Amino acid sequence: MIRTRFAPSPTGYLHIGGVRTALFSWLYARKMGGEFILRIEDTDLERSTQESVNAILEGMAWLGLDYDQGPFFQTHHFERYKAVIAQLIAQGDAYYCYATPEELDAMREQQRLNGEKPRYDGRYRNFTGTPPEGIKPVVRFKNPLDGEVVIDDMVKGQVTVKNAEIDDLIIARSDGTPTYNLTVVVDDWDMGITHVIRGDDHLNNTPRQINILKALGAPIPKYAHIPMVLGPDGARLSKRHGAVSVLQYKEEGYLPEALLNYLIRLGWSHGDQEIFSMDQMVEAFDLDAVNAAPSTFNDEKCLWVSQQHIQQAPAAHLARHLSHFMAERGCDLSQGPALDQVADLLRERARNLVEMADSALYFYQDFSEFDADAAKKHLRPVAAEPLAKLLQKFSELKTWDTASIHQAIQGTATELDIGMGKVGMPLRVAITGAGQSPSIDATAALIGQHRCIARLQMALD
Ligand code: GLU
Repeated sequence: MIRTRFAPSPTGYLHIGGVRTALFSWLYARKMGGEFILRIEDTDLERSTQESVNAILEGMAWLGLDYDQGPFFQTHHFERYKAVIAQLIAQGDAYYCYATPEELDAMREQQRLNGEKPRYDGRYRNFTGTPPEGIKPVVRFKNPLDGEVVIDDMVKGQVTVKNAEIDDLIIARSDGTPTYNLTVVVDDWDMGITHVIRGDDHLNNTPRQINILKALGAPIPKYAHIPMVLGPDGARLSKRHGAVSVLQYKEEGYLPEALLNYLIRLGWSHGDQEIFSMDQMVEAFDLDAVNAAPSTFNDEKCLWVSQQHIQQAPAAHLARHLSHFMAERGCDLSQGPALDQVADLLRERARNLVEMADSALYFYQDFSEFDADAAKKHLRPVAAEPLAKLLQKFSELKTWDTASIHQAIQGTATELDIGMGKVGMPLRVAITGAGQSPSIDATAALIGQHRCIARLQMALD
């Protein structure tokens, strides 16, 4: 069975570039009918925080990237890592290195002076003497000296690295704690990961990891290294470019599938199609079609994709996500129409859920003032007559729906021999408080008869 994983380090927020990697891993597992695993790589005890773990879990839940196993925590596997390190030492594939930091500095300095690339020279590789006193050794992996490692990367193509270019990597620090390359290898093996899909900042680690896997007699997974996401200036996307944390996008009013849709289209295409539902993404996704070059994040395009999803989403789905923003604005949803009807009406004009929530308040909350400009232009003193007539017609309406409201507006305009706009605009300001809303008859229908009448009276006072 295909098994993929997302393996974030909980040392900050869940970055949008990480989300893209998670999405590709998740999609591949779903597409192939495999399993997707979440593994929290928390071995860096100083930098890992619970807050960051929570942000990762919350982000994954919001995005709907569900996992079949996990979350696993690497800090729970220390005994296992120790056993594997001991095994590698016992079978002669790893060794204690007693070189002091000063000694290593001097070594590198000498290499620089010789015009060589600084690297560990393997000085303790075949050490059999008495260990120097008072030094806590690190453990290094005995990388093969000859041959090469060939990676058939599903995104990057074939990558070949000569073993002579790889030095003996530290797999355990002097305090005995394992390093990243060791823990990843052990977990990928133990968890039966068949496809390692991760950021291409890890491509350098892959030959080392393959050599360790080989020494352990473990199967070698397939690899797919996903290119970085860049900011408009060509630098790796970071905070200074704007929002990079996934939860920030949530707070900015993105639907999760809109954000994922934008991220999948960064460096992956499927004909001319821009907008994908989650099901369509699973259906169409193909790792081979991922572009090997980095792609650039574009805020405007991201917002456009958001708008497209807002227009297409089922109303109940919109309402479910919108309710969070309504609650944030202190809005009591029991004081007005069903939120899915409101969302359905407002979707044409909103690019995100924040805009939608901001323009949904008058359905639930009364206001004590009208927007000053709109009132000056449309309400006072010009509109007393049409509004009074409309008030009377509204009070007499037996059915309160879009068609009958439309008739009342039309009737008023005809009787006063004025344009529809001269009735509709004052009505809009009177019942919504401002000069902009969706079509006024449908808006009035949703606001409700009682409320519309009360607000017309307020406008006439
Ligand atoms: N924990 C690593 C990171 O957050 C990812 C390791 C991997 O995917 O192999 O960059």
